[in-house]
Amino acid sequence: MSKDSLMNTYSRFDIVFEKGLGSKVYDINGKEYIDFVSGVAVNCLGHSHPAIIKAINDQSNNLMHVSNLYWNTKQLEVAKKLCDYSDHDKVFFCNSGTEAVEAALKLARKYGKQNGRDQKNEIVYMENSFHGRTLGALAVTGQEKYQKDFMPLMEGVKSAKFNDIEDIKNKINENTCAVIVEPIQGEGGIVVAQIDFLKEVKELCKKYDALLIFDEIQCGMGRTGSLFAYEKFDVIPDVICMAKGLGGGFPIGAVVATQKVASAFVPGDHGSTFGGNPLGCSVALAVLEELMDKGVVNEVNEKSKYIINKVLELKNKYNVISKIHGMGLMLGIKLETDKSKVINKCIEKGLLLVGAGEDVVRIVPALNITKEEIDNGLDILDKVLYELCD
Ligand SMILES: *Cc1c(COP(=O)(O)O)cnc(C)c1O
Repeated sequence: MSKDSLMNTYSRFDIVFEKGLGSKVYDINGKEYIDFVSGVAVNCLGHSHPAIIKAINDQSNNLMHVSNLYWNTKQLEVAKKLCDYSDHDKVFFCNSGTEAVEAALKLARKYGKQNGRDQKNEIVYMENSFHGRTLGALAVTGQEKYQKDFMPLMEGVKSAKFNDIEDIKNKINENTCAVIVEPIQGEGGIVVAQIDFLKEVKELCKKYDALLIFDEIQCGMGRTGSLFAYEKFDVIPDVICMAKGLGGGFPIGAVVATQKVASAFVPGDHGSTFGGNPLGCSVALAVLEELMDKGVVNEVNEKSKYIINKVLELKNKYNVISKIHGMGLMLGIKLETDKSKVINKCIEKGLLLVGAGEDVVRIVPALNITKEEIDNGLDILDKVLYELCD
């Protein structure tokens, strides 16, 4: 199969995938892999989940797309669910994570303009963050490697140190319209925000009438053991960005906000042709039903503990593991060896892992991964570390 027709935007592993079932995926040679990546926290119900297949089949027989010139039942239903499950009142639908961030940034700018002055347009973001690759989201992604070749980016942004409240105090002022934070930095290395840090950021946001935006694109949708990550930190943000797990593999993103904040948007301020299409929304409804009504979210903490305990056993055996950190099924194994060597050797033996930050491999499996699949995956990691330490 020729691979010459794609732009060179990814450094890909040389595997061509064809099929997936649960937490197993198969390449064109029929080789089986245990999937600890799940499309980077996307396939929250694993591959080929019957509820998702049914939603796509049923909805595509009825109505796949209709313009946002009109209402559609599925968009209304999933919006109502997201509001019921959160502490928020209004939803905007888009198709991806970076679009959710763009919508949140625009909402913050409009809110700032309405509630302050024209100068109330500054957005504070965190070092080492990841919010996406469009020019707005990239401007608040605090990693030079992603930004450097695309200057100039959006103006009016300021970076601050994650988990460093003194630094935020120096960066926030009357001109700040929003602070954007990942409660758990994903791409940056699975770095969990300190609860006190988020609480103090929330207070500062209140003081300066700036919006607190949580990017839960990776850490949301049940991954921490509650539907929204903010529930685990006991801090309610004004705006939440979500995508990835929301469609369980079907592209959909959303932003939820409180009534007060959302009212800044009026017709014409923002939009998306595909955002909130009936097909995507019916899949999101199916995902939410599995996560919440069928109890998949409730299994997360137990599986998390199970993985952590097994990795701690590996840590006792191999000193290349320096620690395991994270929350729920968003875990990072910090390594004292080249992470790509570990990832490559795991792939050879049939385990998919993805790196994060400098020296971390991520475990972000489907939330319904079975104990057997976890055992099989970690057995492969065990063998790989044994060979590397030899
Ligand atoms: C993946 C991710 C994004 C970007 O989402 P896309 O769907 O790739 O645009 C933004 N923020 C976080 C935290 C992410 O993990």
